[in-house]
Amino acid sequence: MREPDYYLLTPGPITTTHTVKEAMLTDWGSWDDDFNEVTREIRSNLLKAANADDENYACVPLQGSGTFAVEATLATLLGTEDKLLILMNGAYGQRIGKICDYLNRPYVSINTGDYLPPDPAEVRKMLESDPTITTVAIVHCETSSGILNPLEAVAKEVFESGCKLIIDSMSAFGALPIDADTLPFDALISSANKCFEGVPGFGFSIIKKSVLEQCSGNAHSLSMDLYDQWQYMEKTGQWRYTPPTHTVAAFSQAMKEHADEGGVSGRLARYTRNRDLLVSGMREIGFNTLLDSEWLSPIIVTFLSPAHPNFDFKRFYQELKHRGFVIYPGKLTETESFRIGCIGQIDTPQVARLLSTISEVLNVMEIELS
Ligand SMILES: *Cc1c(COP(=O)(O)O)cnc(C)c1O
Repeated sequence: MREPDYYLLTPGPITTTHTVKEAMLTDWGSWDDDFNEVTREIRSNLLKAANADDENYACVPLQGSGTFAVEATLATLLGTEDKLLILMNGAYGQRIGKICDYLNRPYVSINTGDYLPPDPAEVRKMLESDPTITTVAIVHCETSSGILNPLEAVAKEVFESGCKLIIDSMSAFGALPIDADTLPFDALISSANKCFEGVPGFGFSIIKKSVLEQCSGNAHSLSMDLYDQWQYMEKTGQWRYTPPTHTVAAFSQAMKEHADEGGVSGRLARYTRNRDLLVSGMREIGFNTLLDSEWLSPIIVTFLSPAHPNFDFKRFYQELKHRGFVIYPGKLTETESFRIGCIGQIDTPQVARLLSTISEVLNVMEIELS
């Protein structure tokens, strides 16, 4: 297999296999039966990956980046009578608030800042004190810090209150286990270019059918109406409006490779291996992680920029890029930091080479950490 020019150690788009890229060499007719079969298979396999049976859940894909799918899910599920509680601890939780501002949907939030997890007891208190809240939104892995939020504990409070639960599992689904049997969410959102290791071009929402059936007329926007997209897909087997055909073909191949790797558990094992080697190696070099070990996700890790006067992120980034690795800037408001992803087509040899490359770059920059 050909080595990529550089590895994307980012939260998506990520490094894909050659065979996934190769799957884009065919031009498909968007109305053709062959293509419809690919779509049908993907939707069905995504439900299986969440252990969601197709009697109770529907997978509705939508053209665009992940945010399009988040916005469409909120626009479709929230009626004018609804009120959303958003658990914010980073940029993606804040983005859900921004979407609600645009949609004119009332919301309240529990904001725990840059990187602290939401406290399930506080969620319970909030739901008890405000009975007008109908729905709760949580980000599964908050990619801006890399924190793995306590989904199960929060979900328990939400279900006990009778509220609906919307999960932004964009950067987690495909690698972190989701079981609709034991965690009966109302909607779970993800996209093609994260842990399933496809290329960018569409997102999707797995939605409880009994909920979606009630959502006709909620959406403010035609192209964002997941109810309409769902109805059309059920009737015709086709996407409403032009689908990203090449992306869909690549995703079909990516899902085969996901299955070959052992599905969610196989992928989680590799990403966990990547994270463990990355974190121990970086700590050995002298870097500190933003989060305590218990909150570190196997998706992406935030490291604090060293206080050394020679450390300059832009230079560090360029030196690494010249040597075959693209890392990611930080997204914290208070602290200088950078992020390194554990997802995509990387494994132990690449992480080991990254670590020795980082040591080399620090030498070049005349930075000694200890
Ligand atoms: C990547 C991501 C999104 C969507 O981002 P896009 O740039 O629109 O694809 C949303 N939420 C989380 C948690 C993410 O990691």
